[in-house]
Amino acid sequence: MKSDFETSEKRHLSADSQPDMLPDYSGGMSEAERALLHGHVDGEVGGEGDGQLRGERGDATGGLRAELGAGQLGAHVRAALAWHESPKRSQGWDLHTHTVFSDGQCTPSEAIELAKNAGIAGIALTDHDSAQGWSEAEKRARELNMPLIRGTEITAEWGHTSVHILAWLYDPTNEALAELFRTTRINRVRRTKKMVEMMGKKYPITWEDVLKQAGGTAQTTIGRPHIADTLVAKGLFATRSEAFLGPVSSKSEFYLPVISPQVDEVITTVKDAGGVVAIAHAGSFARNKEILSDQDIRHFADLGLDALEVWHRENSPEQRVRLLKLASRLGLLATGGSDWHGPHGKPNLLGENLTDPQTLQAIVTRGVLPVVE
Ligand SMILES: [Zn+2]
Ligand SMILES: [Zn+2]
Repeated sequence: MKSDFETSEKRHLSADSQPDMLPDYSGGMSEAERALLHGHVDGEVGGEGDGQLRGERGDATGGLRAELGAGQLGAHVRAALAWHESPKRSQGWDLHTHTVFSDGQCTPSEAIELAKNAGIAGIALTDHDSAQGWSEAEKRARELNMPLIRGTEITAEWGHTSVHILAWLYDPTNEALAELFRTTRINRVRRTKKMVEMMGKKYPITWEDVLKQAGGTAQTTIGRPHIADTLVAKGLFATRSEAFLGPVSSKSEFYLPVISPQVDEVITTVKDAGGVVAIAHAGSFARNKEILSDQDIRHFADLGLDALEVWHRENSPEQRVRLLKLASRLGLLATGGSDWHGPHGKPNLLGENLTDPQTLQAIVTRGVLPVVE
């Protein structure tokens, strides 16, 4: 009998942490972002101070200005944008990182050490659907005096779109949230095992091989990256990326989606647990054909969403501008994070995208859990 997982209409629901191919938009600020910022700075310098965008800059930014019309940027978003634009900005926080407790390659201790050496102000640990790396991270953060925010990146669904939700500073003893993580972990492992069994008919790999490759810790949420690493370890593919272009791809005959909770359920559960919630890489087309609409995001803001992750390498310049405008309109914070997974596999560098100190302060004020310092 075919299970629900195997029906073809569900195959577009890619809920995995590693998309097949990632674009890189990490190279600084776009013309559009600059225009958005300078429009406001000009307005303030001109003594109006009302945040209105003005239309007297006769350069390539005219189209965007017209599109923005009389749009206003809220104080939080304007401050965040100014910080990102500033060449001599103060130290920022990396609010989005992964360790071996999900699909990253470094331990939480190593992540803290690397963050300390990188000279960033602080780091948030946000492993997928798990809080199990927190205690190790906390210990090392205290030893090294490295400010740490404890968090999780939660996989959710909305329509045909896979959505990642960053949840920071929530109460880890909250039973509803713990249950949500448990269910997701079980579903993910179940589907990964099924994929490996299907793949085993064509490639010489077994579930035991993948378990061994994942390091054998019960905490690790085993997913497609571990299958890819096993295929590499067996010499069947040269790199993780090549495996992701082959049998591990979401377009492969072996692909099965993970069943995830709905976005609204995740937001309300994290808010009930005293956490702070952001939509990760909200403008990324690398993971979905359709991304969340303005209307979707407005709905989530009504449910208590706190922030949008604007500064992430998968958000195009156009999407960053869209997200900044939305954040401003809906009173949301604008954050940045590297989505670092370790030295190999993904190109994301620790600290390549950051969150400004003022936004960080707003997040810390809202969360029920204190920063580890
Ligand atoms: Zn993500
Ligand atoms: Zn991530």
